[in-house]
Amino acid sequence: MYDAIVIGAGVVGCAVAQQLSRYDGKLLVIDRMEDVADGASKANSGIVHAGFDAHPGTEKARLNVKGAKMYKKLATELGVPYGQPGALVLGFSEEDRKTLENLLAQAVANDVEGCRIVEHDEILQMEPNTNPEVVCALYAPTSGLVSPYEMTCALADSAAENGAEFKLSNPVLEIKPTADGNWLVITERDEYKTRAVVNCAGMGSGILHNMISSRKVKLIARRGEYYLLDHMAEIPFTMTMFQCPTKMGKGVLVSPTTHGNILLGPTANDIDDGYDVATTRKGLDDVLSKVRLTWKNVNLRQVITTFSGIRAHEEHGDFIIGKVEGAPAGAYEAVGVESPGLSAAPAIGQELGDEVAAFLGLKKDENWKKPTPLPKTFRTMTDEERAEAYAKDPEYGVLVCRCEQVTEAEIRAAIRRPVGARSIDGVKRRTRAGMGRCQGGFCSPRVMEILCEELGVSPLEITKCGGESKLLVGTLHQIAKEARPDEE
Ligand SMILES: Cc1cc2nc3c(=O)[nH]c(=O)nc-3n(C[C@H](O)[C@H](O)[C@H](O)COP(=O)(O)OP(=O)(O)OC[C@H]3O[C@@H](n4cnc5c(N)ncnc54)[C@H](O)[C@@H]3O)c2cc1C
Repeated sequence: MYDAIVIGAGVVGCAVAQQLSRYDGKLLVIDRMEDVADGASKANSGIVHAGFDAHPGTEKARLNVKGAKMYKKLATELGVPYGQPGALVLGFSEEDRKTLENLLAQAVANDVEGCRIVEHDEILQMEPNTNPEVVCALYAPTSGLVSPYEMTCALADSAAENGAEFKLSNPVLEIKPTADGNWLVITERDEYKTRAVVNCAGMGSGILHNMISSRKVKLIARRGEYYLLDHMAEIPFTMTMFQCPTKMGKGVLVSPTTHGNILLGPTANDIDDGYDVATTRKGLDDVLSKVRLTWKNVNLRQVITTFSGIRAHEEHGDFIIGKVEGAPAGAYEAVGVESPGLSAAPAIGQELGDEVAAFLGLKKDENWKKPTPLPKTFRTMTDEERAEAYAKDPEYGVLVCRCEQVTEAEIRAAIRRPVGARSIDGVKRRTRAGMGRCQGGFCSPRVMEILCEELGVSPLEITKCGGESKLLVGTLHQIAKEARPDEE
């Protein structure tokens, strides 16, 4: 019997798990995918929003501002890339100025520090590559950037180091209260009994909520498509460049990432299938036409990939966090956590984790281990640091991913982490091997070999991202034999 089961290993589920791991309970995290951070938490803009966009008085506004204030310390503790370059929301007309003034008023109401309206000349001084037709902008100095999947993986590791179990590739089919006042979590692989269940299942959270609550929710899948530009290109903007928000969301942005790439997007289109992360010609064209308003000279030759992520938009528009209303005791949830959910995650994790621990009557774990910060990457080391790393471990001298300068030592370490990589994408999320211009064209075979060596499995078992995404279909000998069974 577990004290708590967290369903969903995105940034929210992992933040809740890390907070719960500070207590002395028995904890399990379950996800349908083969890795953590395989939902919205791997495919978003990576902005730690300052908090001017969310309507005052909402959970979104409160948790965004609280979470954003927690980021710097948390990212430092975990050793996760984070920065605070600030943001501009651009206005191109007097109509837009009214929108920006409303955003400024929201910033004040939400207690966001330092926001002000800036005019044409100052904008071009701050960001010379901005479209010169810009009239005015809202400047938000506290807007930050984080690597969302690295944050999620690090939170998962910290929870696991403190005893949380992770059972991945394990979709939850049903949750139900038991006659003795506990909960049964039924998955494709097994059944688990628990005193409390915490539904952090992103796009899947609505279905789980409606199974146990008399107060139904409706989640709408809102897809956002992106272009990603190589970090070899000159960085055109140091800040996140937003346009005026629409009723569908924060609009299309141009933003550096924590790794120096440039992100263009996202769109906001409601779709039927909450797991359809395709990109479309129309969506990408839409991104491009809107990006040109911010950045006239955008150069598509620098595009290295496109991707999309799905926002779990609750029809009434706010986060639903806490005890599940209309359900028996012991059920908790984070439902409808669309943007700014990444920014809010540290606050959601802390509040929800503490609430569940209080319900269970758990005590703080005196032996809670502080996270071990992720080590500096080979790519960001100085020559002296590289020499030192190589002296300790000669596998720092074997470069596997040339685009992102990832060494064999780092790939092995990623597989050996508490919640370690088990697939090509798992290695990519933790090390960046395969995230560069060639998109894994050169390094994937070697990454596969290292995965096989570390996990003691055959190359035929290695997948891109779990499930049926196997990369090899058989050995040449096997394939030839199947084609001509009678020949020796
Ligand atoms: C295009 C886009 C841009 C965004 N930009 C930003 C931004 O810049 N800043 C910001 O603050 N926020 C942003 N967000 C929002 C942010 O990404 C999300 O709020 C956050 O990632 C939600 O985390 P989560 O853990 O709730 O969901 P997820 O990361 O989706 O995790 C949910 C997990 O539950 C699992 N799951 C689902 N159903 C089941 C089941 N039945 N059984 C087991 N497991 C299940 C899934 O596999 C998944 O791993 C953006 C979102 C999108 C889509």
